[in-house]
Amino acid sequence: MHKLLRNIWLYDETSQNLKDVRIQDGKIVEIGQKLEVNGAEIIEGNGSCLAPGFVDVHVHLREPGGEHKETIESGTKAAAKGGYTTICAMPNTRPVPDTIKNIEHVNELIEKNAVIRVLPYASITIREAGKERTNLAELKEHGAFAFTDDGVGIQQAGMMLETMQDAAKLNMAVVAHCEDNTLIYGGAMHEGIRNKELGLPGIPSVAESVHIARDILLAEAAGAHYHVCHVSTKESVRVIRDAKRAGVHVTAEVTPHHLLLTEHDIPEDDAVWKMNPPLRGNEDLAALREGLLDGTLDFIATDHAPHSAEEKAAGFKKAPFGITGFETAFPLLYTHFVKNGDWTLKQLIDWFTKKPCDVFDLPYGSIEEGAIADLVLLDLTTEQVIDPTTFLSKGKNTPFTGVKCTGWPVLTLFGGETVFSEQQ
Ligand SMILES: [Zn+2]
Repeated sequence: MHKLLRNIWLYDETSQNLKDVRIQDGKIVEIGQKLEVNGAEIIEGNGSCLAPGFVDVHVHLREPGGEHKETIESGTKAAAKGGYTTICAMPNTRPVPDTIKNIEHVNELIEKNAVIRVLPYASITIREAGKERTNLAELKEHGAFAFTDDGVGIQQAGMMLETMQDAAKLNMAVVAHCEDNTLIYGGAMHEGIRNKELGLPGIPSVAESVHIARDILLAEAAGAHYHVCHVSTKESVRVIRDAKRAGVHVTAEVTPHHLLLTEHDIPEDDAVWKMNPPLRGNEDLAALREGLLDGTLDFIATDHAPHSAEEKAAGFKKAPFGITGFETAFPLLYTHFVKNGDWTLKQLIDWFTKKPCDVFDLPYGSIEEGAIADLVLLDLTTEQVIDPTTFLSKGKNTPFTGVKCTGWPVLTLFGGETVFSEQQ
């Protein structure tokens, strides 16, 4: 049985140019106009836009250990609804994938429960405790996508250098949540203007940027691929831009929320606005947008971080950091930047597909004959309001409730199989 996706337009062509895509054995086998049916199951595209399935290299699925926040099943279903077909799961679970046994446990859970492709990170230190390094070679052999202690920064420069040296030998990336613990001062939001108005402790920008500057020099010394998670400050953008010019192998991601919101959007002491790194100032927002456009920042990742409503009700000081991202990322950015004419549709989709695949050498993110049929069909005209009660994610913690968007995924195919359909 094969499938024929009819009357779509490819994201890098124009909507006047409707095409059909034939899918067989999980792959795209033919793209053309008015293809013969030949007994195929027909999926009617109704003139919608077809893009490669989205790729998100920074997500928290919470399982094992945090199943009240999210499970691999609920998280991957939410991701599929958001148009994603490949996601990379951060290792701050319990247990942490820090040994062969623990990463194999994660692999088994993914095998059993994921509806799309999940590539697990392995940690840099045992239990992400920052004290004892893991065996990177073993973890690579057992399926680690890359190495990170996301959620916490690697505090010791020597430990980071040794990790980078080992990772370079293995041709693997070191991925870093950059935060110097001696500069956090118990902060819950950006050390700027709004935290003073609300009387809340701030996290200074330098807590992030100083780690990035250090790590860039370490990566240069080690000859490693160093990838910076969720860049949030203008100083971070500047040091990454300088490092790229100097030829250091550094890449970086930015989240939708840091591209769309600042500290000034935080209306009150409500932890639905609390994430790490925090929403920064106006100049930071401008620098992130500029950095994405000039290639300093390579692509967009959500940092999907679900929490329960009870946890998030505790107020800024006590609640955990993080917001959900899968089910809002594309419509928000499409509506804000593409519809307004700041970005082209192709730019946005490349930042969700081709760019992360190029950075991490993944064989996904393109639509061509012979490629895996990881695809998302996008309705670029119907307007809908973001309503967390409709999320498939267990996490309803988003600051974007009530925002009107267009650009909604209506059908997601993973290896040619339907993993999300608006009709379901
Ligand atoms: Zn992080």
